[in-house]
Amino acid sequence: MLAKEVFKGMAPYKPGKQIEDVKAEYGLEKITKLASNENPFGFSPKVEQALPELIKNLEVYPDGYSTVLRTKLAQKLGVDGEQLIFGCGSDEVVEIISRTYLDEGTNTVMAHPTFPQYKHNALIEGAEIREVPLIDGYHDLEGMLNQVDDQTNILWLCSPNNPTGALIGQNDFRYVMENCSKHVLVVVDEAYYEYIETEDAPDTVKALEEYPNLIVLRTFSKAYGLAGLRIGYGIASKEIATLLNITRGPFNTTSAAQKAALLALEDEAFLQDSVTTNIENKHQFMKFCDKEGLSYYDSETNFLFVQLPVSGDEMFEYLLSKGFIVRSGDALGHPNGIRVTIGKLEDMKELELYISEYLASLKEGKLQ
Ligand SMILES: *Cc1c(COP(=O)(O)O)cnc(C)c1O
Repeated sequence: MLAKEVFKGMAPYKPGKQIEDVKAEYGLEKITKLASNENPFGFSPKVEQALPELIKNLEVYPDGYSTVLRTKLAQKLGVDGEQLIFGCGSDEVVEIISRTYLDEGTNTVMAHPTFPQYKHNALIEGAEIREVPLIDGYHDLEGMLNQVDDQTNILWLCSPNNPTGALIGQNDFRYVMENCSKHVLVVVDEAYYEYIETEDAPDTVKALEEYPNLIVLRTFSKAYGLAGLRIGYGIASKEIATLLNITRGPFNTTSAAQKAALLALEDEAFLQDSVTTNIENKHQFMKFCDKEGLSYYDSETNFLFVQLPVSGDEMFEYLLSKGFIVRSGDALGHPNGIRVTIGKLEDMKELELYISEYLASLKEGKLQ
């Protein structure tokens, strides 16, 4: 049997280490996972209280159109319900967009490194990939626009970018929208939207009124803490959303996920607390890095990409032996660094001690 040719060069996604594996491997009791940008404070207690309700009627298919959640979210965003597309995580929305807009003979432009699912899905669709290296963690927007031609169907903007954390500011966003050909779908992946701290963030949802070739992706997996339930969404023109809803599987989000997302949306206090604490802890970790002479990319997210005098894999292995799972830059196309999800303050303090210890022993030449 012959799969598509492109599969020869591909492999299944390799996730960050799982907690149970690390416990067993290193004989550790406590493991702190700072690898996948999950919310260290969990999810809204309102969702937890409603758990019995969430798992009622499991024998019935979910409402494929997510009507209740759709109505509430549309209201909150100030858009029409028909402008939304829900996915099994925004991952699935990326897949749906790729299936809808990419084909052999088309190409797609993205940064490098960025969120790997853009490339992954584009490859499967047979599209040509045009990757443009980041500049200091930021998208090289001019370079990306230069790659756009008549065959370009999608331009991916990950903002803030994973794995660097850098945000595309208002003026830069407008520059791209004004200068990108109108036949190109511009996807702005805002998985970390809720964590953005700067005032300079573009109002991408408002921009939909001006730019019919725009789609904005958001998720309940990060700040809302519902990664395990798998639900994310896209906001676009009705025309685009209608096409995507054709591609979408009929029951792609679960009833539990839809209900939980609705409750999570309503609990603004939990979200606010998570975001505020994240910002405090991120700034304190940045201070630590400054003190250690470690540079890092500007981050408007719940993670920090830290540059190291050693390979990311080396630091990753060391921290793993101490019970901390971070993400090595090597795995993210960015060696000599690690991406650290900002955790609880006490965990970050402990992590800092281990990083200091390792750097000090490097200086003394003890390790190797
Ligand atoms: C985590 C992440 C996603 C995927 O989130 P899900 O909604 O859980 O699929 C999408 N884009 C970026 C940039 C992410 O970091």
